[in-house]
Amino acid sequence: MTPALPGPLWSRRDRLRLLVPLIGGAALIGLAWFLVAGRDDAGGQLAPVSLAIAGAGVGFAGALFWLGQGRRAVRALSWHLLGSADSAGCETTVAAESVAGPNARYFHRRDCLLITDRAFPAAARADQERVGRQPCPACQP
Ligand SMILES: [Zn+2]
Repeated sequence: MTPALPGPLWSRRDRLRLLVPLIGGAALIGLAWFLVAGRDDAGGQLAPVSLAIAGAGVGFAGALFWLGQGRRAVRALSWHLLGSADSAGCETTVAAESVAGPNARYFHRRDCLLITDRAFPAAARADQERVGRQPCPACQP
C-alpha cells in the first residue's frame, strides 16, 4: 500500500516565490527599456543596460531558487514514498545480502522499488563494495 502523500508539490507560497522575482525582473527590464529609449549615446545607455542585466539576474536567481526548492520537495517526496529512514515506521536493519545489475553503480536491497521485477544476482555487501558499487540512496542497503 502506498503511503499517503504529504500534500501538493507546489504550494501557493512556492508559486509566489517564482512569480515575484520573475515579475520584478521583468519590471526592471521594462524600466531599463523605457530609460534607454531614444538615447543614442553609449554612455547614456550604460546605466539602463546595467539595470536590465540586474533585472535578468533577479529573474534568473528566483527561478534557480524555485527549482532548488522543487528538487528538495521531490527528494523529500521520493524518500517518503520509498520509506527512507526519515519516514516513521520504517525498518532500519542492515541487509545481509544485496543485489545489483552487472554494470550498476549502486547496489540495492532485494525489495527496493527501483529494481522491481529485475532478477539481479545477490551478493554480500562487502563484495558489492569491493567492485566499486555504492549503496542505493533510496533503499539504503
Ligand atoms: Zn535501492
